[in-house]
Amino acid sequence: MRCDLLVHGARQLLTIASRVGPRRGTEMAELNIIEDGAVAVQGDHLLLVGPTREVLEHAGEGTQLMDASGKVVMPGFVDPHTHLVFAGDRASEFEMRLKGATYLEIMAAGGGIMNTVRATRAASLEELVVQSRERLDRMLAHGTTTAEAKTGYGLDTENELKTLEAIRLLDESHPVDLVPTFLGAHAIPAEYQGRGEEYVHLVVEEMLPRVQNGGYVPHDSPFFCDVFCEEGAFSLEQSRRILKRAKELRMGLKIHADEFTSLGGAALAAELGATSADHLACTPEAEINLLADSGTVAVLLPGTPFGLGEAHYSSARKMIDSGVPVALATDLNPGTCYCEAMPFVMALACRQMGMTPAETIVAATINAAHAIGLGHEVGSLEVGKKADLLVLDVPDYRHLTYRFGTNMVNTIVKAGRVIEQGGI
Ligand SMILES: [Zn+2]
Repeated sequence: MRCDLLVHGARQLLTIASRVGPRRGTEMAELNIIEDGAVAVQGDHLLLVGPTREVLEHAGEGTQLMDASGKVVMPGFVDPHTHLVFAGDRASEFEMRLKGATYLEIMAAGGGIMNTVRATRAASLEELVVQSRERLDRMLAHGTTTAEAKTGYGLDTENELKTLEAIRLLDESHPVDLVPTFLGAHAIPAEYQGRGEEYVHLVVEEMLPRVQNGGYVPHDSPFFCDVFCEEGAFSLEQSRRILKRAKELRMGLKIHADEFTSLGGAALAAELGATSADHLACTPEAEINLLADSGTVAVLLPGTPFGLGEAHYSSARKMIDSGVPVALATDLNPGTCYCEAMPFVMALACRQMGMTPAETIVAATINAAHAIGLGHEVGSLEVGKKADLLVLDVPDYRHLTYRFGTNMVNTIVKAGRVIEQGGI
C-alpha cells in the first residue's frame, strides 16, 4: 500500500465524518474528533484516517512525514458563495458611506454595482484572471481549498461568458477548486433601467442557452444558476422564470433571498429543489420551516452586514434548532463584503448569529460542500475523499473562532500537495 504523505500526531483530528446529506440539528455540533490522530494520503486522496499508532505503521520508503504534534488538523474550508471574479474596487464608495453618504448619493457619484460592472466589462480576460487570482491566493492562505465563484458583473452575454471563462482558467491554473455559478440576474444593468422584463427575457432566452451550448456546463461536476431575488433587483416571478429555465437546462439552482426584504425567495428555493438559499437575513418562520423540510442548504453570510456596518444578521440559531442545514460563506465581493477569510466569517457567526465553534466548523466544511454539490468529495476527512486538509497552529478547535484577526493556518494540503504558508 503506497502512502505518499502521512500527517501524524494531531492533538485533535477533526474528521467531521459525514452522514448522507448535510448535517442538521444537534449533528451540526459533532466533529468526530480523533485525539492523537493521523491521515495517510495516496495521490490526491485520503488512504487512511485514524489514531497515529495505527496509521503511522503504514509509512514506507518515500512517505513524506508531517508532524502535527500539539496542533489541530481539519478538512480544508469550502467557501460556497463568492463573487470572486471582478475588476477594480470600491474603496472610495466605502469611505463615502462611512461619512454618511446615502445609497442614492453613491449611485450619483458613479458608485454601486454598475461601478464594478463598468470595470469588469472594460477588463480583458487576462486582466480579470490576474486580479481575481490574487484574491484566490489569499483565500487559500486562509484555508479555503474549494470555492464557488459567480458571474454577475458582466450583465451582458459577452461579458457574462467572459467571466465564466475566467472562472474556468482560474480553476485550471490554481490549487483551489472552483465551482462555477451563472448569475446573469445579479442586477438590472443601467442600459435596461425601466425595462427589467426585457432583461429577464435576455437572460432566459439568450444567456442561459448560450451558457449551456457554449460548453461551460461540465458533465461530471456541478454548475449552478443563481438569481438575486430582492426589491430593486428581480421579483419572485422573474426569479422563478429564470430558475425554472435553468432547471430545464439541467443546472443546479441557488438563490440570493431575503437579504434586505422578504419576497418569498426561500419558499421558492424549497419549491424548486434548489441546492442552496443564500443570505436569509429576514426569512419568516414559516419559510424557515419549509427549508427544514426540503433538501436546500441555508448559506449564511454574516460578513455582509458586518461589511456594511449594519446589524441585520440571519437567525442561524433558530434555523439550526428548526432542522435547517446551515453553511457559512464569505460572500466575497467589492461592494458589501471584501473578505477572503472563512475563519473571520466563522468568528462573526459565533458572536452575531448564536452559533457554537463546532457548528461553524461543520457549516464551513461538510455543509458548505453540500451547498455546492460536492458533499461526496470534500468537506470531511474520510477514506476515499480528496486530501484537502489544514494544519492549524492552535491546541484546540475552539481557538479558530475564539481568536480572530490573525491567520492560524500553518500548512495547507490541497489534493495531496503540501502548500506551506508563503509558498503559494
Ligand atoms: Zn452574493
